[in-house]
Amino acid sequence: MKKYIMALDQGTTSSRCILFDKSGKIASVGQREFAQIFPQEGWVEHDPMTIWSTQIAVAAEALLRIGGSWDEVYGIGITNQRETTIVWDKKTGQPIYNAIVWQCRRTAKYCEQLVHDGMEETIKEKTGLLIDPYFSATKIRWILDHVEGAQERAEKGELAFGTVDSWLIWNLTGGRVHATDVSNASRTMLFNIHTLSWDDELISFFRIPRSMLPEVLPSSGIFGYTDRNILGAQLPIGGVAGDQQAALFGQCCFSEGELKNTYGTGAFLLMNTGEKPYMTTNGLITTVAWGLGGKTYYALEGSVFTCGAAIQWLRDGLRVIDSAADSEYYASKVPDSGGVMVVPAFQGLGAPWWDPYARGIIIGITRATTKYHIVRATLESLAYQTADVIRLMENTTGICVRQLKVDGGASANNLLLSFQSDILGIPIERPACVETTALGAAYLCGLAVGAYDSVDQIRENRAIERLFTPGQTDEWRDQHIKEWRRAVERALVWKEN
Ligand code: ADP
Repeated sequence: MKKYIMALDQGTTSSRCILFDKSGKIASVGQREFAQIFPQEGWVEHDPMTIWSTQIAVAAEALLRIGGSWDEVYGIGITNQRETTIVWDKKTGQPIYNAIVWQCRRTAKYCEQLVHDGMEETIKEKTGLLIDPYFSATKIRWILDHVEGAQERAEKGELAFGTVDSWLIWNLTGGRVHATDVSNASRTMLFNIHTLSWDDELISFFRIPRSMLPEVLPSSGIFGYTDRNILGAQLPIGGVAGDQQAALFGQCCFSEGELKNTYGTGAFLLMNTGEKPYMTTNGLITTVAWGLGGKTYYALEGSVFTCGAAIQWLRDGLRVIDSAADSEYYASKVPDSGGVMVVPAFQGLGAPWWDPYARGIIIGITRATTKYHIVRATLESLAYQTADVIRLMENTTGICVRQLKVDGGASANNLLLSFQSDILGIPIERPACVETTALGAAYLCGLAVGAYDSVDQIRENRAIERLFTPGQTDEWRDQHIKEWRRAVERALVWKEN
């Protein structure tokens, strides 16, 4: 009797495994943090063997915790930190270098050169991405350039490249399957999101031999079976998606125009745009959401650099709160921000402003301003920044957003979500299960292994923990947004070039 779907959630700071029952409820969780390696300023690496060993350990742990057996597991869904790059020897399975993590900026100069050489348009058109060290292509190039003999070995067909999903699939299948899914492939800067294949022009431009690249498969479908010698069971790997896309799926944003925001350290907004990739030049990126049932769905993605990080700053920098959760209590001590605006442009501002020279400001301070106003204004800035990205998505697609689904650490804050609803003028849904990333991977797998017949059946699982509805007038909203924009104008171009 099958009972559970196993989601492997390989994140940036920890490997997790969640067992879900068919109704989408969590039965068990295993989690292990692992070391972040910082070889130099701005560089970030992980040990690929640690990624693998922690992931396999938490899978066993999650099952042991409920005294379950592998026979009770339908299959495995994988979701992962995106763009992180691993190159390994196909014969030995040994990585030739550490995983270069998405955050790593080591290829920043190289990316500047690519922009200077006029590659931006080609890359945007083919991949939907902006040229940035985030994406895998320049990281692969770096490994092939810096590990002795790597380029030659790659050309001989001895090396494999993969994002973390591919690395896990390879290891779970005992080296039999070298594959990835369309959502992860779309983050490499080598994948043509229109033809849905590795782009010949780009792979030859980056001198990456085709033999290194994994086979690209739909996000829901059988990728392979786990090796008995590894898990002690032969289980199908039935779903794979990058973390943000998996969260979009886990939030049941299956239809065009459905949107989710993850309020983490930064914020990640993804809007399902259906089977149409909207190509933009306004700072949003176009990405594959998932491949499912013979179709490919696309998403627009926008991010806010400083989201929950602004709350950390209240706690650790200003020390006006003791914990992130306290921000709600302090903010609720005053009815509004008393005319104070905080623009947390700590690292410049992203979409729609795109100003790396913007810096944070607190403005509108009077003799009546208290720390409560500043806490409240900081919290409100998360909502204003989110609204800016949503408006940009609406303008780009002509799609009118009717509702926002939320998750991530700061989505626990009721005052924030209530204000978010007021500022957007639409309802905000906080789901009962906020483990949307793992849930998305489980659902993708569940569809492939027959645990669910359709996405409609999955939608029936969705439970809302709380719905926030807008309670302010249009005038109130317009006036507040106008004030926010005035504050942002003053934060722009502050740090001299
Ligand atoms: P990440 O995955 O980026 O590490 P999380 O989703 O775990 O982020 O969220 C952590 C962030 O959420 C932190 O920046 C923290 O300041 C913020 N946060 C957590 N709880 C709250 C809360 N109740 N109110 C506001 N912010 C919060």
